[in-house]
Amino acid sequence: MSGTADVIIVGGGIMGASAAFFLRRHGKSVILLERDLVGQAASGTNFGNVRRQGRYLHQLSLSNRALDIWTRLPGLIGEDCEFVQRGHLRVCYTDEQAGKLETYARDARDYGLDLEMMSGNALRARFPYLGRELVAGCFDPQGGHANPRLTAPAIARAAMRAGAQVEEGAEVVGIARGSEDFVVEVRNRAIFRAPVLLVTAGAWGGKLSAQFGEPVPIQIHGPQMAVTEPLPYRMGPSFGVSTSHVFETVYFRQVERGNVVIGGGTRGPASNDTNRAAVLPENILGQMEQLRRVIPGIAAASIIRVWSGVESYFPDDIPVMGPSATTPGLYYAFGFCGAGFQIGPGVGDVMAELIATGATTTPIAPYSISRFAVTRGPSAAQISKRR
Ligand SMILES: Cc1cc2nc3c(=O)[nH]c(=O)nc-3n(C[C@H](O)[C@H](O)[C@H](O)COP(=O)(O)OP(=O)(O)OC[C@H]3O[C@@H](n4cnc5c(N)ncnc54)[C@H](O)[C@@H]3O)c2cc1C
Repeated sequence: MSGTADVIIVGGGIMGASAAFFLRRHGKSVILLERDLVGQAASGTNFGNVRRQGRYLHQLSLSNRALDIWTRLPGLIGEDCEFVQRGHLRVCYTDEQAGKLETYARDARDYGLDLEMMSGNALRARFPYLGRELVAGCFDPQGGHANPRLTAPAIARAAMRAGAQVEEGAEVVGIARGSEDFVVEVRNRAIFRAPVLLVTAGAWGGKLSAQFGEPVPIQIHGPQMAVTEPLPYRMGPSFGVSTSHVFETVYFRQVERGNVVIGGGTRGPASNDTNRAAVLPENILGQMEQLRRVIPGIAAASIIRVWSGVESYFPDDIPVMGPSATTPGLYYAFGFCGAGFQIGPGVGDVMAELIATGATTTPIAPYSISRFAVTRGPSAAQISKRR
């Protein structure tokens, strides 16, 4: 196992797999190195929300680009990854929260989102299983959900069919910048070389960026997930409940087999040293409490499985995307703060465009790693000279 290519990608989640796929469409040769199995980390353990509303407004162009790819997946990669576009509905319990949903709906219109505000009664007329406590909701008919266990592997398979070299069980343990190429060593001592390196290592991305003088204030948490026994299929949209602020905090969706997947609420402990994320029973009970308020008829359903995944967060709640500020040829796309699944295919497309053409038509300036650069104050000597 070894090789040279135009681009080496470190990390085979949805970002790395998508970047490999789109780089091939730009005619670039690609080697994707994944420590475990493609899509085994956050990209395979997430909730599966393909949601635009609630994202920061500056992320909606990227989110729209991703949505366009989601709708074209069968034509692009030959599989639909169980993406169903039956809408995304955010519901809330207070007039104050309804006001925030309304403001967001108005602001998001500038980015092409056609969100529909609905009163509590209108919600119950359209979705008769919803509870009486809800005062309003906001519906995005273009939202939906997909199966995360299928998605990154399907995109990676399509990348391989297009000519990408995808290596699983390939943990990158050393990277050196030679005069022309990055020299990348994997644990079995094989060496890979490329003039361009893209780090899509998710919660582990900061360990690699630090090697290039770009440490980041990454925090690791485990969003909490649960799934019920199969129930009669009733819910088309993916739901989010606004509990405390404009961003939804508990969400759920029903797969066609009938199981209701639940996520959100208080996060659990996770580590990018042990690569494990734990589920706390009290968090799952909190989710169920919300679910029963929104859909009272679900109160008696049994939870049959719980899980979590290792995800990385930054203090400003937005990812790192773009070129390194220290090292020519080095690019980053990691740290997606619990919301990277929907934008994943768009991130891969944007990063491929940036690497292949030197620019991207989708704005990513807010995500520059240089926002974390340490700004050094004047030295003691400089201060004493000024006095
Ligand atoms: C439980 C949970 C629920 C979520 N729900 C949603 C949701 O509903 N909607 C949404 O949009 N987002 C959601 N997210 C967030 C989303 O899943 C992530 O933001 C996204 O999957 C990140 O993708 P990634 O490719 O950057 O990272 P990952 O999927 O974590 O992939 C990174 C890969 O890099 C590999 N790697 C790391 N270090 C090395 C190395 N040294 N050498 C080789 N390989 C390496 C890892 O093994 C891993 O496979 C959720 C996340 C979690 C955990």
